[in-house]
Amino acid sequence: MLNEREISKLKELLGDAAVVTEDIPADFGHDELPGGAAFMPEAVVEPRSTAEVSEVLKLCAGANVPVTVRGAGTGQVGGSVPVKGGVVLSTKKMNAILGVDEAARTITVQPGALLQEVKAEAESHKLYYPPDPGEKTATIGGNAATNAGGPCAVKYGVTKDYVLDAVIVLADGTAARLSDKPEYAAVIGSEGTLAVITELTLKLIEKPQSDAILLLPFMDGESCIKAARTIMDGDFAPATVEYLDTDLVEFAGKVTGNPVFPVKMDGERVGATLMLTIEGEDEDSVMEKMETLAEMAEELECIDILVGDTPSMKRDFWAAHDAFHTSMESGAKCACEVNVNVPFDGILEFVEFAKAAGEENGLKVMFNAHLGSGGVHVHAVADCSKDEFALKAKGFQDAVYGKCGELGGDTAGEYGVGYAKLAYLGEQERQSFAAIKAELDPKGILNPGKVAE
Ligand SMILES: Cc1cc2nc3c(=O)[nH]c(=O)nc-3n(C[C@H](O)[C@H](O)[C@H](O)COP(=O)(O)OP(=O)(O)OC[C@H]3O[C@@H](n4cnc5c(N)ncnc54)[C@H](O)[C@@H]3O)c2cc1C
Repeated sequence: MLNEREISKLKELLGDAAVVTEDIPADFGHDELPGGAAFMPEAVVEPRSTAEVSEVLKLCAGANVPVTVRGAGTGQVGGSVPVKGGVVLSTKKMNAILGVDEAARTITVQPGALLQEVKAEAESHKLYYPPDPGEKTATIGGNAATNAGGPCAVKYGVTKDYVLDAVIVLADGTAARLSDKPEYAAVIGSEGTLAVITELTLKLIEKPQSDAILLLPFMDGESCIKAARTIMDGDFAPATVEYLDTDLVEFAGKVTGNPVFPVKMDGERVGATLMLTIEGEDEDSVMEKMETLAEMAEELECIDILVGDTPSMKRDFWAAHDAFHTSMESGAKCACEVNVNVPFDGILEFVEFAKAAGEENGLKVMFNAHLGSGGVHVHAVADCSKDEFALKAKGFQDAVYGKCGELGGDTAGEYGVGYAKLAYLGEQERQSFAAIKAELDPKGILNPGKVAE
């Protein structure tokens, strides 16, 4: 518990307006975890600099008060939620873009800058920051803390691949650079349990000059996944290889009123659709790749190839894709998710298992997957009471996370662990995290009750 003296000290350090202890907005008690419980902090603080973060941590560590960092709160595993109370350290006011070095192709930012702002800044210098988990209002600090992936990881990798260096503040208030010690590398992806990220220097690349989205509908999921393998093994270097389950696109299309993905073709129900992004240094090279794919249509066993090459079509496709998560909660009384990484060869077995497990537990199950990186998002919905759903969801999630482990998958792979996936973390991951936690935060000040207790 924070006492009056500590609250006064925080106000002295940060200014009255940057320390909230009364009428804390309810949003600070949850993130975007479907059906997540509410855990309110005792105080929300909004530091502006590394030095201020350092002072906050020194004070909290001295008083044994937990500190949970919060970016935009768009996480879906309860990562930014203060399950053990204490202080929420919001990065909202640390949102400056500190500079772009065009020659070195780097951008340096504070952690509260939003992903969409980082991307736009890079673009204004004719450069490109590729990682994009789909939620562009997430902070770049949140992306780094969860090592966010997303659709384009197949070609461009995940956030960690773009972090060249960072300034971090350890639980005892010590500021350091990520590059100072090899063990600090673990901070990226550690969900605020090892250190607070207060500055990031990120790699930028040259943006491909031209791209197009192709939709390849298939009669069934198996042929869709087989075709994805053939395409990834070829010379196309697709920037996204998205598996879209027809039940999902139909459900989400009705909720959003943006039904752009095929559900029926020639009177027959589509089994699944592959959403490819093809890139090239000019329009001709994209066209060439599309023509080669068209020639392979029979071999790929796709029903058709639909092309989205205008800016408005591409925007519509991505808007519909990025609305999958949110449409679940708006379209059903209750919803839950399972977000994991599964090895490519196990994806079909995994999703078939998930659908069957959904049926057994009385849930409608739908999914989409980033086939290249193995990220699978399973959405389960039902129109029942919250209590009834909690039981169904537990049975379902236990079975599906178990199957992920059996197939050699990674439960933390997509979205992180937070508190929602803690029970499903593998023993080996648990132990290696506990070891680094004991070294960097022995008092357990940072984000307790999460990945590493
Ligand atoms: C529609 C939608 C789609 C999404 N798709 C994906 C996806 O495909 N892949 C994916 O990985 N995620 C996805 N997400 C989840 C979420 O957007 C990402 O996890 C994002 O990276 C979280 O950023 P945030 O700023 O909202 O962080 P928050 O939710 O505020 O925090 C997330 C975690 O990071 C920690 N943290 C935040 N900032 C810092 C910091 N500066 N220093 C240390 N720790 C920090 C927090 O303590 C917490 O543990 C999606 C979310 C939505 C709503």
